[in-house]
Amino acid sequence: ILKAIDVRKSYGSFEALKGIDLEINRGEVLCLIGPSGSGKSTFLRCINQLEIINGGALWINGELVGYRRVGQKLYELSEREIARQRLATGMVFQRFNLFPHKTALQNVIEGPAQVLKVERRQAEAAGRELLDRVGLAQKCDAYPIELSGGQQQRVAIARALAMKPALMLFDEPTSALDPELVGEVLAVMRDLARSGMTMVVVTHELGFAREVANRVLFMDHGLVVESGPPEQILGSPTHARTREFISAVL
Ligand code: ATP
Ligand code: MG
Repeated sequence: ILKAIDVRKSYGSFEALKGIDLEINRGEVLCLIGPSGSGKSTFLRCINQLEIINGGALWINGELVGYRRVGQKLYELSEREIARQRLATGMVFQRFNLFPHKTALQNVIEGPAQVLKVERRQAEAAGRELLDRVGLAQKCDAYPIELSGGQQQRVAIARALAMKPALMLFDEPTSALDPELVGEVLAVMRDLARSGMTMVVVTHELGFAREVANRVLFMDHGLVVESGPPEQILGSPTHARTREFISAVL
């Protein structure tokens, strides 16, 4: 569903990504771990074109990201085409950034109604179902300010799912939460993984990675240092840098 070949991203002369190669199959759950500044967020942002890559190539669902190939030539996609491609991915950030003046349900149906042009009644029914799925059936009419951080993050997940993405990207979705609220968000993500959603999750929750991920990638200085099944990467990593990081997080 996703293929990355030698993906590079620089900010000025600073190389945030120095060549990422990766393939993700449908239904896989990947956890990205690594120290601050290693390029985890940058990589997610490149996948959904919040950043433009400087080298290499990315494909989602077999479609080249950001470019159209005509013969031997590559042409940049228009804003409109980029917006269409972006629909393939749903992103959940550390901060929930819901619309403060909209209720939970209004937040969830905004995208389907405005962008996908789904009929109001149908969007609402689907939205209620999604809020039910993240355990918030009772909170459809609550405003973000009336919800806990964990509840807001679950609304944010429902909102992303409402666009029916092929791939869900999570960037430290629980790191802004009070510890007692982390579990409810991870539980929703675990259910989502079990339902077969393809997911890339940047997280320091190694317990979640161990239990839910098919593969764990350890990144450092813009490169994937090692990757493999969670028991291998978290249990008996090959690289000293990975061992150091894991013992520091635990
Ligand atoms: P963290 O765990 O702190 O979130 P990260 O692994 O997500 O870290 P990134 O946010 O991807 O790291 O950043 C990778 C590097 O790129 C960092 O050194 C950061 O300072 C740099 N960087 C990120 N965004 C920009 C930007 N817009 N302009 C300049 N440098 C940037
Ligand atoms: Mg980050």
